Amino acid sequence: MLDKTHSVEPQQIRNRLFINGEFVDAEDGATIAVVNPHDNSELTAIAEAKAADVDKAVAAARAAFPGWRDTNSSDRARLIMKLADKLEEHFDELTELESLDTGHPIRDTRGLDLPRTLLTFRYFGGLADKIDGRQVPVEPGFLNVVKRQPVGVVGQIVPWNFPLMFCAWKLAPALAAGNTVVMKPSELTPLTTLRMAELMTDVGFPDGVVNIVPGYGHSAGQHLAEHLDVNKIAFTGSTQTGRKIVTASSGNLKRISLELGGKGANIVFADATIPAAVGGSAFAIFHNQGQACIAGSRLLLQESIADEFLERFIALAESIKIGHPLDPQTEMGPLTSKLHLERVLEYLNVCANEGNRILTGGRQPSDPDLNQGCYLLPTVVEAGPGDTVFEQEVFGPFVSVTRFTDESEAIDLANATDYGLGSGLWTNNLQRAHRVADAIDAGMVWINCYKRVHPGSPFGGVGQSGYGRDLGIECLNEYTEPKSIWINYDAEIPPFYSGGATT
Ligand code: NAD
Repeated sequence: MLDKTHSVEPQQIRNRLFINGEFVDAEDGATIAVVNPHDNSELTAIAEAKAADVDKAVAAARAAFPGWRDTNSSDRARLIMKLADKLEEHFDELTELESLDTGHPIRDTRGLDLPRTLLTFRYFGGLADKIDGRQVPVEPGFLNVVKRQPVGVVGQIVPWNFPLMFCAWKLAPALAAGNTVVMKPSELTPLTTLRMAELMTDVGFPDGVVNIVPGYGHSAGQHLAEHLDVNKIAFTGSTQTGRKIVTASSGNLKRISLELGGKGANIVFADATIPAAVGGSAFAIFHNQGQACIAGSRLLLQESIADEFLERFIALAESIKIGHPLDPQTEMGPLTSKLHLERVLEYLNVCANEGNRILTGGRQPSDPDLNQGCYLLPTVVEAGPGDTVFEQEVFGPFVSVTRFTDESEAIDLANATDYGLGSGLWTNNLQRAHRVADAIDAGMVWINCYKRVHPGSPFGGVGQSGYGRDLGIECLNEYTEPKSIWINYDAEIPPFYSGGATT
C-alpha cells in the first residue's frame, strides 16, 4: 500500500496571484478549485485572475522592464542560475507537487520534468551574457552594428501537460534576454508555478520582473493576448486557441510565437532493430499518458514486420503499471482532468462508429483503487487516412496503427496531416534515415529514438503546429528585436539636396 504522506501539502502553497513581488487576492476575490486527478478530490483553491488583475500584472511588468533590461547581463545570468539551484534544493517538494497536480508518475517528474526544468534555467542562465549582436561590413567611413534588444513585456500562456517544465522553457530565455513577464499558467495546474514564484523572490528577482496570473483562458488569457501594453505573446496550447491568440493580438500587432498541437508519425521500417523500436514507440505515445504535443500518436508499420511488432508492442502496453502518481513503481498515472478524460473517451465512441478495431485498452482500468480517478488503459487502435483518430489530436494514451508497403507510402502517410511538430523513424539504413527525415514536414525528427529534447535544440513546428521556436539559440530571436545602428565616423556624405546653398 502506498504511503500517501508527502513532503508538501498543496494547502501550504501561496495560492494567490503573484504580482509585483507580492501574493495578492484577485480584485473580485474569485477562486478556482485545483483538483487531484487521482481521485478528483480538491487539493486546494487558488485565486482566479481576471482582466483587472491582468492589468495590474502588466503594469508591474512594464514598470520593472527598464530596470531589468538595464541590469548587467551577468547579474541576470547569476539570478537565473540561482533559481535553478533553489529549485533543485526543493526537488522532492516540487516533484511531488507536480505529480499531485498533474497525475504525472513521480518517476517521470523526478526523472524528466524537474531535471529538464533545471537544465533549461541553467542553459539560458549561461546564455544571458552571450546574447551578442554583430557588425555589418558597410561602406567605408560608416559603422553599422546590430544590437539585440529585449522586446519588452512578454505575456506567456502555457497548458497543463508539463506545467513546470514549460514555465522554464518560456521564462528562462525571456528573462535571459532582458524581458519582463506576465505568465498565465493553466487554470488546471498552477501549483508548481506559484511555488516557483515564491522561490524566485527568495533568490532575489526584483519585484515585477515575473508576475503569475492563474485564470481561465477565455478571461485572463484572452485579456493578456489582447493587451495593448504587452509586446509579445509566447503561447503553448491547442491549435484552436492559437487561432484566437492570433486574432486577439492584432490590436497592437504584438509579436507572437505559437507552439500548438501535433499528430506525430512514428515510422517503423522492416530494417529497424525491432525491440528498440517497440520500447521507443511505447515511450513515444504512453509517456505522460500520451498528453504530449510531440506524442508519436500515429504508428506506421511496414507490412512485413507489422504482426511481429504489434504482438510485442501490445504485450508491452498491457504490462505498463498504472497507479497512484506518487507510487515510485507507477509507470502511467491518470490523465490530468476529468473533462479531458471525457474528451479522450469520446474518441472511443468515434472509433466504434467508424469501425476502427481496438487492439488493446479502450477502457478505464478495473482496479477499485483507481476508479475515482481519470485513468485510461494504454489503447491501440487500427486506423488510417480518413479516420477521425488518424487525423485529430487525441492527446491521451491512444495510438493509431497503420500499415505501409514501401518508403514512399510511409512518407505520404506521415505527411497526411495538417500538423507538423514531432515525428520519428526507426531504421538501420543510413541513407533511408536521412532521406525520410528530409521528406517529413515537421519541426523535429527523431531517428532511432523519440521525444528527445534539450534546451539547446530548437523545439517547434510547422503548419497547424504553429510558428516560432521554444529552446535553442533560435528562441532568443523570439525574445529580442534586432536594432540596426549606423555611425558615421569618417564618411563624406554626398549632398543629395543643395537646400538652396550655392557653395
Ligand atoms: P488550450 O489551448 O486549451 O489551453 C492552453 C492555455 O491557453 C491555457 O493556459 C488556457 O487557459 C489558455 N487559453 C484558453 N483559451 C484562451 C484564449 N481564448 N485566449 C488566451 N488563452 C487561452 O490547450 P490545453 O488543452 O491546455 O493543452 C493541450 C494542447 O496544447 C494540445 O493541443 C497540445 O498539443 C498543445 N501543446 C502544444 C505544445 C507545443 O510545444 N507545440 C506543447 C504542449 C501542448
